[in-house]
Amino acid sequence: MTAEPPPPGPVSADGPAWAAGTDAPTPGEVLANLGDVVVVIAADLRVAAINDAAASLLGEPPGAIIGRSALDLIHPDDLDEAVALLDRYQSGVEIARPSIRLNRGGDPTLAVELIARRLERDGGTWFVFSGRVEPTLNTEDLMDGVGVGIVMWDESGTITESNRTAAALLGDEHSVMPRRVQDLAGRFCDPDDPSSARHLLLDDLGDRAHRHRLGVVDVHGDLHVVDLEIRPFRMRYSGRSTALMALRDVTSEHAARAALISRATSDDLTGLTNRGEFMSVVDAAIADGPVGVLYCDLDRFKSINERYGHVEADRLLLEFARELVDSLPAGCTIGRPGGDEFAVAFPTADFAELAELAETIRDAARRAGLQTLHLTTTVSVGTSWTSGGQEPDGNADSPNAAALVEEADEALRRAKRTGRDRAAHFDSVMRSWRTDQTAMAAAVREHLDAGRVEIAVQPVVDPRTGRVSGGEALARIRDAEGQLVPAALWIEAATRTGLIGAVDEQVVDLTASLIAELHRHHDRSGRPPVDLPVIGVNLSDSTLARPDLDDWLLEVLGSHGAPLDHLVIEIPETVFPVIRDRSAEALRRLKERGAWVAIDDFGVGYASLAEVRDLPVDTLKVDRSFVVAEPGTTHEAILRASLEMARALECRSVAEGVETDRQLDLLLGLGVDYVQGYLTGRPLAADAFVEHAAEHTGVVSGPTQAR
Ligand code: C2E
Ligand code: MG
Ligand code: MG
Repeated sequence: MTAEPPPPGPVSADGPAWAAGTDAPTPGEVLANLGDVVVVIAADLRVAAINDAAASLLGEPPGAIIGRSALDLIHPDDLDEAVALLDRYQSGVEIARPSIRLNRGGDPTLAVELIARRLERDGGTWFVFSGRVEPTLNTEDLMDGVGVGIVMWDESGTITESNRTAAALLGDEHSVMPRRVQDLAGRFCDPDDPSSARHLLLDDLGDRAHRHRLGVVDVHGDLHVVDLEIRPFRMRYSGRSTALMALRDVTSEHAARAALISRATSDDLTGLTNRGEFMSVVDAAIADGPVGVLYCDLDRFKSINERYGHVEADRLLLEFARELVDSLPAGCTIGRPGGDEFAVAFPTADFAELAELAETIRDAARRAGLQTLHLTTTVSVGTSWTSGGQEPDGNADSPNAAALVEEADEALRRAKRTGRDRAAHFDSVMRSWRTDQTAMAAAVREHLDAGRVEIAVQPVVDPRTGRVSGGEALARIRDAEGQLVPAALWIEAATRTGLIGAVDEQVVDLTASLIAELHRHHDRSGRPPVDLPVIGVNLSDSTLARPDLDDWLLEVLGSHGAPLDHLVIEIPETVFPVIRDRSAEALRRLKERGAWVAIDDFGVGYASLAEVRDLPVDTLKVDRSFVVAEPGTTHEAILRASLEMARALECRSVAEGVETDRQLDLLLGLGVDYVQGYLTGRPLAADAFVEHAAEHTGVVSGPTQAR
């Protein structure tokens, strides 16, 4: 670039003239001796004329260049631009400061920048390219080298200069800038939202500099964030008013800053609102009026993590987050407080809407599982609601985010406890229940101290003969009225307070005593010897992790004189991966000595065929959720697959929670070995079970109707 380029445009016979005295050299002689490079190209892109400077730059005699395609002489990087430029010139479009580089054999150090002019004469069109050979860095290089985009324009709004950086941001696909600065005015947008345009007033030179941070979408569709400064000034030599726009590309800086802000308020993995921010949003929403909170937790996520690894599990979380964003209505704030927990806040006075949102969330989880891991993943949801002041029933409400979220979490835990894959709402019943949980843990402790934990034993029945082939010992405590309290209501409290190991100890002791009693009873009855029922115990993961697992069980059974081959160790499928390495050896030793090993709640923990095969397992207890499945659902398919898997592994299958004849018929059709459920027998007190088993041992009739 030199000082002021002449305004681009055709040079006609009426245009700039050649003035010379009679004794002056001819224009041809001047051209030949000119230090500047001059090349004239015809409309068909052939070289029509060339001076010595240009020929020596190209390293060939002028005669060898004349008539050749001009494209051979152009710097390879500029070929596209040159073709576009000539195209435009031919169709009469003028552009700002057109320039291309000419060079020898692709040697970029010998490049010269040429300024093109159009020359029309006698109906023909030529392009005159001229430029100065500058062995050192020229102003153009300098302008390009600073890494800042520069655009200059004059009072008429005509762009007089621009560098490559600016052209890459604001030019067309060939980095060609428009001729008028007004054409740039509509190119800018909000740096964070390309769809919202920011119109700049560029034609008024004004008298003060101004700065903006704006977005600009380049021809490739990429958004760049630029710090833009527009500054009017006066040219040093000509004194003409001009304006200069400097553009600094701050895209990565801007993104880093945005990430910093978002890291403080959002979750790294999903980009959803994080816990702190979610609380602030809920607090603000409560101040505005009624709001509902939905707290959700993917069911058995721990197993998924164990089984598929963190990367796959993260993929599921991410997809679930995406599904939530896509399917929940506008106005919802979606957060991920941590792990596999998600939270949604929705300002609504309509209670029914929360139930609908809970269903939407459950559908989203299902889709996310299928799309990522090809699994039917389920989610449990807890909801809570506040009027922002007073609840409809007149109860004092808890109008702060922490309390509301805690209540939704409490409801979530109830949804989990009552079978997962469902939504539960926090209501006044739960409010009293919350106090009950603490009371419950205290009651368990009291029962343990006094050795008053009991067992109820539920029959396991062969559905083809009605024979009681086994039983499951289920832990029970009694409430203040002396009623037995089912394990489902307090086992979680015992687990949370670290009491579960002590519960297991008392249950194993009672079970050993039961097995011994079954033997004695049988001997006393004088009946013909038949197989006595085997009794299952549920062992928690902390019990299974006991280093003395086998010695301890052998000792307890031995102390009661109970044979080990009548004990079934039930391991929930969800703790299966956790205990796999730690307890496998102890279980193997126990099995060698006759004990049975069952996987409990099979189907919910996604254990693979290989994993089950590697453990000394002989019984699969298919979870109740699959037994109650409607025909044609994925649950029914899992039921089928579980029973087939049992057969393939040569394991006995037990279907849990059979309540209706229809379920039993289906199971019989699918070839189940044993059933356990209210239909064939509710849990009985230990001595009642001994009687019941004696009556139904060896019976050959239809299914028992003991209820
Ligand atoms: P589980 O091992 O799957 O036991 C079966 C549960 O399903 C029992 O509930 C039983 O009463 C219930 N059930 C049986 N048939 C039906 C039916 O037809 N319909 C319905 N709706 N339910 C049925 P329970 O006794 O409340 O035990 C719940 C869970 O607590 C057990 O599930 C087991 O995981 C755990 N548990 C029970 N006793 C102990 C124990 O001594 N130690 C440990 N660690 N966990 C225990
Ligand atoms: Mg069990
Ligand atoms: Mg079970």
